[in-house]
Amino acid sequence: MQIAIDGPASAGKSTIAKLVAKQLNFIYCDTGAMYRAVTLMAKKNGVAYGDEKQIIELMKKYQINFKNETDGQKVFLNDEDVSEQIRSVDITNNVSEVSALKQVREDLVKQQQQIASEKSVVMDGRDIGTTVLPNADVKIFMIASVHERAVRRFKEYEAKGVSVSLEKLETEIAERDYKDSHRLISPLKKADDAIELDTTGLSIDEVVLRVINIIKNN
Ligand code: C5P
Repeated sequence: MQIAIDGPASAGKSTIAKLVAKQLNFIYCDTGAMYRAVTLMAKKNGVAYGDEKQIIELMKKYQINFKNETDGQKVFLNDEDVSEQIRSVDITNNVSEVSALKQVREDLVKQQQQIASEKSVVMDGRDIGTTVLPNADVKIFMIASVHERAVRRFKEYEAKGVSVSLEKLETEIAERDYKDSHRLISPLKKADDAIELDTTGLSIDEVVLRVINIIKNN
């Protein structure tokens, strides 16, 4: 079974996708983490974020792997745990440039389709329902207001001891939304057959329940 969850940054996709996958005993695939990992490859090797040719060469040298550990799912680049590094402000602000590259997308989409062909999966991202898994059993398009999403990001950064202003986060989120929705290849877009779920004002438990109900009633 394939569950696709798409939507803009910080709409709650990964938090919800993880919990839903756990309840259903499905695997969870965080495709945003894969684009972030490729961005990190470029950064580590001093390659410009728009240099498609060199980034593709780097992708041949690194394998992106997910591993489930007691404290959650970790992301590895070859043998290095990069789970924290891929969430840095720098990677977050540059990932949209890398994710707009055609060959990067083609390569990662193939990897994502391979993962989904092996086991029942909850996959989250921007183009899962439209491009990666167009025949997914359930498609959810998760949204929330820019303000609410900025507040969620603010709390995440605060917990990590990173200080950023709420206004700056609102601007960055709106910018990333714009870039992700206006790129040429696989822009962020609600699939025609996706169910829209606005998580503004809802608790995590409430959203999980709604998603489980959508899956059950499908
Ligand atoms: O979901 P997350 O915020 O971690 O995604 C990081 C970035 O990766 C997005 O802003 C987007 O540019 C890119 N992305 C994408 N397609 C996906 C998942 C993420 O282009 N399926």
